[in-house]
Amino acid sequence: MKLVGVIGAGVMGSGLAQALAAHGISVVLVDRSREQLDRAESEVVRYSRTGRLFGHDTEKYGDLTQRVTYTTDIAEAGPAEFVIENITENWALKAEIYPELDRICSPETVFAANTSCIPITKIGGVTNRPDRVIGMHFMNPVPMKSTVEVIRGWHTSETTIATAMQLLADLDKRGILVNDMPGFVSNRVLMLMVNEAIFLLQDGVAAAAEVDEIFRSCFGHASGPLETADLIGLDTILYSIEGLQEFYGDSKYRPCPLLKKMVDAGLHGRKTGQGFFSYTP
Ligand code: NAD
Repeated sequence: MKLVGVIGAGVMGSGLAQALAAHGISVVLVDRSREQLDRAESEVVRYSRTGRLFGHDTEKYGDLTQRVTYTTDIAEAGPAEFVIENITENWALKAEIYPELDRICSPETVFAANTSCIPITKIGGVTNRPDRVIGMHFMNPVPMKSTVEVIRGWHTSETTIATAMQLLADLDKRGILVNDMPGFVSNRVLMLMVNEAIFLLQDGVAAAAEVDEIFRSCFGHASGPLETADLIGLDTILYSIEGLQEFYGDSKYRPCPLLKKMVDAGLHGRKTGQGFFSYTP
């Protein structure tokens, strides 16, 4: 794999650009927002300097910053052999971008959706290549996480699965293959847990720090549900839980009013500097 198109330069897209470029793969990073592209570029530069502190061989393939192209023009992703889509978790936006990619890219190109909850079969259905559409649910932060949830849509071919698994191997990552249902394995459970943790806070059962400490100290989790929510982004959590509620038609996925209020107030977690906890840039 020589050239990968990464669509969406937010939390996930910029992390993917870092991971791909650090493994010798050139990236066309596309976003409709120039500001997001600038932010992604500064993160790629920072990762090229600091990645080694986390044990990453950022110099193995030379200067990784030279391997990423930043653009607002999606047509520049046309020559990519593989495309990973990471735009906002919103079906209307995703439903528009896949037919566009279908027109721009070679019929051979595989489309991987890095979505939190949207079914891969539904995404495949708005393309002319459902056999070449697959889910690749990367974990955040992408360069640090070893394992990816890989989702087989109804029509996803074995060749597409093999191509996606090979790309993961090239990134020193491992894929775990699951079948397609909204939220897959990870987020069907995680989103419920995070949402319920926010209800605990809203009900005054415990403060945010105590909620998280129970999960860390009592259950040995690496991080609590509220700091996990801040890392993911509260907007992404809300869109995901709303998506699950719509797909399953089940009220157990009703979003906590406090979550909605925080998203309306612009408290989206780490990426905005404030969520359940405060972050300095
Ligand atoms: P984000 O809000 O940080 O970034 C989304 C980016 O998409 C923004 O930069 C936005 O400008 C861009 N965008 C929106 N519409 C676009 C369009 N039509 N064309 C080009 N760019 C467009 O979101 P994120 O956290 O990076 O999440 C991206 C995707 O990855 C979502 O589907 C999310 O569910 C999924 N995901 C997120 C996480 C996480 O921890 N944040 C983990 C796994 C998967």
